[in-house]
Amino acid sequence: MDTGFIDHGRIYDYLKNTTPPDAKELDEILAHAKELKGISYAEAERLLMVEDDAHLARISDTARFIKEEIYGKRLVLFAPLYASNLCNNDCLYCAFRRTNKMIPRRTLTFDEIRRETQSLIQQGHKRVLLLTGEGLGMQALDYTVKAIETVYSVKMGKGEIRRININIAALPVEGYKTLKAARIGTYQLFQETYQADTYKTMHPSGPKSDYLYHLTAMDRAMEAGIDDVGVGILFGLEDYRFEVMALLQHIHHLEERFGTGVHTISVPRLEPATGSEVSLNPPHAVSDRDFRKIISILRITVPYTGMILSTRENAQTRRDALSLGISQISAGSRTNPGGYSEDSGGEQFSLGDHRSLEEVIRDIATMGYIPSFCTGCYRLGRTGQDFMDLAKPGLIKHFCLPNAITSFKEYLVNYATPETRKVGDALIGKMLADIPQEELRQKTAASLKKIEDGAVDVYV
Ligand code: SAM
Ligand code: SF4
Repeated sequence: MDTGFIDHGRIYDYLKNTTPPDAKELDEILAHAKELKGISYAEAERLLMVEDDAHLARISDTARFIKEEIYGKRLVLFAPLYASNLCNNDCLYCAFRRTNKMIPRRTLTFDEIRRETQSLIQQGHKRVLLLTGEGLGMQALDYTVKAIETVYSVKMGKGEIRRININIAALPVEGYKTLKAARIGTYQLFQETYQADTYKTMHPSGPKSDYLYHLTAMDRAMEAGIDDVGVGILFGLEDYRFEVMALLQHIHHLEERFGTGVHTISVPRLEPATGSEVSLNPPHAVSDRDFRKIISILRITVPYTGMILSTRENAQTRRDALSLGISQISAGSRTNPGGYSEDSGGEQFSLGDHRSLEEVIRDIATMGYIPSFCTGCYRLGRTGQDFMDLAKPGLIKHFCLPNAITSFKEYLVNYATPETRKVGDALIGKMLADIPQEELRQKTAASLKKIEDGAVDVYV
């Protein structure tokens, strides 16, 4: 089978012949990592071989250092919005797959999408990830564009959704041009598994069963001018070391072809899904220990690429993952169409974290993280290479931290209970005092005052 730019032979060679670094080599790789410029993929592959607990701890410590240096305590929050669970594919791990008769099927009307959006805005969300199954045929793109317009059109008092990211099936270039024109933020599509035979087994029929077409989706999205693309692996289907090596080949390919890599990497682990045997018994289940290792190595290798964790994970795993490298999390999520405004069933998979947005916010604020609803870069055109140019010299802190603080303040003033507001205001006070540049600190303090007085959407 043609596997495109994923060189399976090279990966298997590496898996067979590569040894873990000894203590001195590990020192060298981690010293290189601490320069904050990323490490080579060959170095990352050596790290993937590490099994020694003490060495793994050193890798994690380095990842924590990098996370702190580049991202500080900022953490972006979003909610998924499932618009349809109809699907013509038969992905063995997913409850939405065509042959599963155990869930109710539904495609939201635009009025229902409006209602879902209202529920999310009422909670205080500003960023939405819009998802559908692949069951809408020729109508799919039209429907998605109208769904995007609907979400953007909802205003509730001072609330609105300011960035919509999209996770829908692979499209031709023209389709991606249409999505770009609809003002999407990031286009996400997960390869699920890069191993071509496993891919075939897991996707026995439907349009998604074409490995190469799915693999090259990001090429078409970037050809169409979408700057921010998000990739992902569904961990549990294949040996995680194979997957991470292949993911790095994917990123390398996009960097070579378009001059910029990917905006985000999602790291879902397989969760139990109704009517899916595979989801109950993952062929290559990833342990918590290996999961931490994966996140750490990705953070070290591609330090400026956002990393996303969803509500698939329970609260404790998410806490660990934040310090190691995760920069975005979903919160208060429902994975069934209509799930925010009613209790209708038909979930894609079961959630490991059932807390509301407010509970998650209080928890992460107590841990010292600033929940960010900022959408500034995307709305000021700082995307793709422009974003990377800005991010790489560490400037991310100059823009992102003040914007995180002001967007969090907007949440606290307009949506939080008094208890959460107290925790949040204390954290903001501390963060403000920690901004080293006098001018930036004063500017941020002035923005906070404006928000106290009723202003919204204040960013630099
Ligand atoms: N239908 C589109 C597709 O498959 O690319 C996009 C939306 S799909 C709802 C989003 C993602 O959910 C999939 O890419 C897959 O990784 C993930 N997913 C499916 N079943 C899952 C499960 N049992 N546990 C965790 N994630 C799952
Ligand atoms: Fe359909 Fe996506 Fe689920 Fe596959 S993962 S069955 S394409 S919704």
